[in-house]
Amino acid sequence: MLAFHRATPRTRARPARSTRAATLAPVVRSAVAAVLALGALFGPAAAHAADTAITVVAAENFYGDVVKQIGGAYVNVTSILSNPDQDPHLFEASPKTARALQHARVVVYNGADYDPWMTKLLGATASQSSQRAVIVAADLVGRKPGDNPHLWYDPQTMPAVARAVGAALDAADPAHKSVYDANLATFLGSLKPIDAKVAALRAQYKGQPVTATEPVFGYMSDAIGLDMRNLRFQLAAMNDTEASASDIAAFERDLRERRVRVLIYNSQATEALTRRMLGLAQQSKVPTVSVTETQPAGVNFQQWMLAQLDSLGKALATR
Ligand SMILES: [Zn+2]
Repeated sequence: MLAFHRATPRTRARPARSTRAATLAPVVRSAVAAVLALGALFGPAAAHAADTAITVVAAENFYGDVVKQIGGAYVNVTSILSNPDQDPHLFEASPKTARALQHARVVVYNGADYDPWMTKLLGATASQSSQRAVIVAADLVGRKPGDNPHLWYDPQTMPAVARAVGAALDAADPAHKSVYDANLATFLGSLKPIDAKVAALRAQYKGQPVTATEPVFGYMSDAIGLDMRNLRFQLAAMNDTEASASDIAAFERDLRERRVRVLIYNSQATEALTRRMLGLAQQSKVPTVSVTETQPAGVNFQQWMLAQLDSLGKALATR
């Protein structure tokens, strides 16, 4: 088994990436200091100054979207990771992140070491919001650090997160329980086309060899039953470590000799090597499918997943 540990970043290459591990702790400390300073300035009354909507912070915008779909007009959601042009693995918490968390009644994050800054910030601000409900997707589906952290691509994850969100909103605002329960039922029903699409792809393409530049689509690929190749290369891309020469050669051979049906390309983890693989796939006429880690603007979670499954289906149908 390959473990999805965040390996030690390489020491050469881009400083912004290689210093991530070293800089996270001070950044979190300064964010926490900012929260404490704010608390001293405005006091506890500031917590109730806003409207009556339930304040929710989601570390990732697809979880924020689920909260909005279930909470409707009764939630005020802030999503921290929401830019599909940035690499979430490189995110560092800022004082703004800490401030957003300060008054949250409900917090949702991924866990499994995808957003370790969240755990640290919550630990530091726990005493200020004793009523805060914290939903960790990884805990709901039994994943831990070292597992593939892209849990929202696992069809099991969102139903579990949605149920937990529904329960948290019910508890925070019992007056609107019937609304939350109805919205939860609607949301769960709206996932059915995704399951149907996965089942249809599985029936047609189970066991087909594919590859990817980064493991973002891994759980979905597993659900479809695809034979995902070059996992070590993908982990190196995710962790920003060097892929070995033999792993690079194996990846290139798969593309050049068309041993894979599709290249799944994470457009949020683009560096010279992954871009080179994309170019090689295009040259070798291996169909490519672009996927993102972060939900794009203008679509909801269900539309995002379905669109990606549709483009995968089209790519697999090419021969
Ligand atoms: Zn990733």
